[in-house]
Amino acid sequence: MTDDTTPMYEGKDIHVRQEPCCLHCWKQPPKLLKCSQCKSAWYCDSACQKNHYKQKHRKTCQKIAKFTKIMQQQTVLLGVSMTDNIFETEVGYFWDLPHTQTYMEASYDLADGY
Ligand SMILES: [Zn+2]
Ligand SMILES: [Zn+2]
Repeated sequence: MTDDTTPMYEGKDIHVRQEPCCLHCWKQPPKLLKCSQCKSAWYCDSACQKNHYKQKHRKTCQKIAKFTKIMQQQTVLLGVSMTDNIFETEVGYFWDLPHTQTYMEASYDLADGY
């Protein structure tokens, strides 16, 4: 489940507003483990991760992982025919994608998780 340790948060996830902390026990150890499936959840060790996954993260994690996969596929597909940044030129089309719904739900679930 956990494949890598990340000493510093990269600051790209808009859902994380403060310093990253363990989603299970709220501690802030110097090193946090990142959920390898969704890459959006942080834990101080694998025990915390397992507990949190069982209690509430499973559903959110699966949604995010699924969406991330779909997005990667879509990006590849769109990349074939578009040379411009799709976020600038095709915003309307992009947000009409049904998969976006899954992402929004996952985002809200994740926000609740905090
Ligand atoms: Zn913890
Ligand atoms: Zn996860």
